[in-house]
Amino acid sequence: MTFASLGLIEPLLRALEGLDYKTPTPVQAKAIPAVLKGRDLLAAAQTGTGKTAGFALPLLQRLLQEGPQVAANSARALVLVPTRELAEQVHTSFQAYGQHVPLRTAVAYGGVSINPQMMKLRKGVDVLVATPGRLLDLYRQNAVKFTQLQTLVLDEADRMLDLGFARELDELFAALPKRRQTLLFSATFSDAIRQMANGLLRDPLTVEVSPRNTAAKSVKQWLVTVDKKRKAELFLHLQQENRWRQALVFAKTRKGVEELVGLLQKEGLAADSIHGDKPQPSRLRALQRFKAGEVDFLVATDVAARGLDIEEMPLVVNFDLPIVAEDYVHRIGRTGRAGATGQAVSLVCADEVQLLAAIETLIGQTLQRRDEPGFVPDHRVPQTAPGGQVIKKPKKPKQPKVPDAGKPGRVHLGALLDDKPQVKAIRKAPGFAKAAPGKAKKPK
Ligand code: AMP
Repeated sequence: MTFASLGLIEPLLRALEGLDYKTPTPVQAKAIPAVLKGRDLLAAAQTGTGKTAGFALPLLQRLLQEGPQVAANSARALVLVPTRELAEQVHTSFQAYGQHVPLRTAVAYGGVSINPQMMKLRKGVDVLVATPGRLLDLYRQNAVKFTQLQTLVLDEADRMLDLGFARELDELFAALPKRRQTLLFSATFSDAIRQMANGLLRDPLTVEVSPRNTAAKSVKQWLVTVDKKRKAELFLHLQQENRWRQALVFAKTRKGVEELVGLLQKEGLAADSIHGDKPQPSRLRALQRFKAGEVDFLVATDVAARGLDIEEMPLVVNFDLPIVAEDYVHRIGRTGRAGATGQAVSLVCADEVQLLAAIETLIGQTLQRRDEPGFVPDHRVPQTAPGGQVIKKPKKPKQPKVPDAGKPGRVHLGALLDDKPQVKAIRKAPGFAKAAPGKAKKPK
C-alpha cells in the first residue's frame, strides 16, 4: 500500500517523500481515507503508531480543498492535546506534512505569554493546536472564534480527562459549531472516554491498532524488587551492569526527578529533567538535548512526558511505578517503536505492590521478576498476578506526597451524560467488542 493509493494529493506526498515515509502505518491506512471522506473517527491508538500523520494529512487536504478562506481570529481545524510538549510536537508535525501547502498553523499553550499567541491568531489560522486551558483563555478574550470550524481533533483524550480538563473541554465543546467533523484519539478507553465519544461523535469509524490496554509487543518488560531507599543505588548499579547508554526514566514526584538527576550528574552521567515545576523553555530544551543525544538520561514525571515522540528509545525505566495504571502503558509506549525492540524496566518496592497488581491486571500479564544480587529487599514485594490479587497481603501503600499532576484523579464526564443506546453501539462496534470498560483482559 502507498500513501498515493489512500487518496492523498501531490504536495502532501512530496512532503512524505522528503520525510522518508514509505508506507502508511495501520492507523494511517484506516484513518486517512475515512477522514478524507469527512467521517468521524474513534481511534484507539498510542503514540508511536503514526496517529499524528493519520489525522494531520487528511485534515490538511480537506482544509486545502474545502471550505472558505480563514477569517480574522478564526480557526478552521482545532487539535486539542493534553500537554505543552505534545502541542509543540503535533504542531511541528503539521508544519512538516504541510510544508508544500499554503495553510496557516499555530500552537497555543499555557506557561508562556499569551500575547504572541493572540497576535498569531489575528489573521486567522487553518490549524490551531492547543491545550484546553489556554485555548479557553484565548476564547474568553475573543482572540479566537469557532464559527468557521470544520474539524475538531481530540488527541490523547484519556490524558486530557486524567489531567482534570473535563470542565474546560465541556465549555469549549459548547462553543463549537454542531456541524463539524470530530476525531477522537485515546490510548485507553474508560467509561468517561466512551461517554465523551458518545456525546461528540456521529456514526464514527472505529479504529483500533493495537490491542486495547495492552503494552506494545516488541517491548521486553521486567522488574527488579528493591527496598525503597536503595532505588537510586540500584539504578546506578543496573546502569553500569547493563551498560545503559540512553534511557527515559520516570519518577513519581518532581522532587524525586530532581534528586535522581542530581545523583546521575554527580556520577558524571549526562542527565536532565522534565517536570511541571520547570518553565516551558527549559522543558523543551531538555527534550531537544535528549533527542540530539547531548543528554543520555531524561528523567520525567508522567504529566510532563506524556505523548513525547522520542525515536528509537531503547530503554524506559520506571524508577517509580505510576499511580494510574494506564500511565504504565503510555510510559513504555515510548520504547520498541516502529519494529525496534525496547526494554522497560521497573524498580519496585513493597509500598508499590498494589500499583504493580493494578498494572498487571491492566496489561493482562505478570511482569517477569529478576533478582539483583546484593539488592534483595528486606521488605519483600509480595507475589502478584493479573486480576489484582496480591498473594500475600501487604501493608497499605503510602500515598505520594507531591504527585506531579495538576489535578490528579479521573473526572467522569460520563456521569453527566445519559445516552445509553449509543454507548452500547460504540461498545459493539468492531474492535471494541471485547473491550468491557474497567475490566482487564484475562491473562493468557
Ligand atoms: P506518532 O505516533 O504520530 O507520534 O508517530 C510516531 C513516529 O513515527 C513519528 O516520529 C513519525 O515521524 C513516525 N512516522 C509516522 N508515520 C510514519 C510512516 N508512515 N513511516 C515512517 N515513519 C512514520
